[in-house]
Amino acid sequence: MSEFLVHVYECDECPLVFSVEQTLEDQSFIKCPECGSSDGLRDLGEGKVEMNA
Ligand SMILES: [Zn+2]
Repeated sequence: MSEFLVHVYECDECPLVFSVEQTLEDQSFIKCPECGSSDGLRDLGEGKVEMNA
């Protein structure tokens, strides 16, 4: 079992909530994978995802 940090984003344009790996170099390029919006995203903070290694 291992875990890594992510940033959780909520989209204002659609109901989607999704997470992005925190280590991503430039988070300004993040956009919603559902509707493609980059303006309506709100950063809900950091979270941890546990993975079965
Ligand atoms: Zn969206």
